[in-house]
Amino acid sequence: MFTSKIEKIRKEYPHNLMARHFDTAYFNSLEKNQQDKLQRMMKSGFENPDSEMGIYAGNVDEYSLFSPYLNNVICDYHQVKNIRLKESNWDFSGDLDLTSIDPSLSNSSMRVRVGRNVARFPLPASMSQDDRVAFENVMIDIFKKLIENPLFGGRYVSLTPGCEYEISNEQYAQLVAEHKMFKDMSGDRYLASAGINGNWPYGRGMYISEDEQFIIWVGEEDHLRVMVMKHGKMLNDIFSRLHDALLFIETHGLSFAYSAPYGFITSCPTNLGTAMRASLHIMLPKLTNNGQDLNNLKTMAKVLQLSVRGADGEHSQAGKGGLVDISPTARLMVSESEIAKKLYQGINDLWQFEKICKTNVTEDALSVK
Ligand code: ADP
Ligand code: MG
Repeated sequence: MFTSKIEKIRKEYPHNLMARHFDTAYFNSLEKNQQDKLQRMMKSGFENPDSEMGIYAGNVDEYSLFSPYLNNVICDYHQVKNIRLKESNWDFSGDLDLTSIDPSLSNSSMRVRVGRNVARFPLPASMSQDDRVAFENVMIDIFKKLIENPLFGGRYVSLTPGCEYEISNEQYAQLVAEHKMFKDMSGDRYLASAGINGNWPYGRGMYISEDEQFIIWVGEEDHLRVMVMKHGKMLNDIFSRLHDALLFIETHGLSFAYSAPYGFITSCPTNLGTAMRASLHIMLPKLTNNGQDLNNLKTMAKVLQLSVRGADGEHSQAGKGGLVDISPTARLMVSESEIAKKLYQGINDLWQFEKICKTNVTEDALSVK
């Protein structure tokens, strides 16, 4: 029954990687308790056949446990032939100045985040309410140390009912509207099938620095999403500040889940490796037909190994006038500094393309006969 439904998904939804790489013989070779674990990992793609990935890990050891199956999924998604560990490299020497692409990009909204998980807790898909709150409390102790640091000092806000740092619904909505805090995950059917949004809003919160540019999300898709976000022109700035912050956190009692050959371990296989997504908000009115259609831009961006999201993040539409979120797709087997350069180059390429377009790009214009 389980395997025949997967066969059906594979035929009807060829983009679903969970189904595309499922191997019945491998599955049947596993012991019952391992089959149960693997089924739990595959549940999101099984219940939501329109998923592009459809897999979420519940524990850090599951990637190595099920590597004969998962490595095929990972290689397919990340477009690599085999998985090798790539050492981190945070060297951002060389200016990544957006105004050298165009002076009008001098006040661009830049963001870089990494996903991080802490090995001694189950991943969010397998956490109980107690685990989520216990993890938040571990973080609150570390945030106290961050607060004392002049570079990162700020405040913690929590969504956990009764937590001493709890904020109101209105304050939360305001932070989401400002792109600082993550959206309410409770209605997300992909995360619901995986169990990642369980016990909402317990154990969820955000650390935010005084200048509001350095942020740590607690309890979203990964234990932590650590990020820097600011308006400006120097891409180097956001990467360097993020690196400094990660070093500080690691020297204050947190050891992040990391293992060869994958690198940083994340809930979703799409984020393995650096777990880094670096993005720029940019106006591309012609390439998006005034923000009405992202599909053509996505097709172009794919060739440049870039991803396109709407201005409100994943699964959102383009913003007013064609405002979009552009980020390099690769996270695995690239270094952090390569991602930074790739973002700069990708923005340059799309910007030149936008400029040479005389009219809005429509599907007709793209389908050259
Ligand atoms: P991620 O998965 O990398 O955390 P999401 O697509 O889930 O990113 O978006 C999370 C939030 O970050 C959304 O509010 C989105 O609009 C915001 N965001 C992403 N990139 C930028 C950027 N360059 N400038 C401003 N906000 C951004
Ligand atoms: Mg996200």
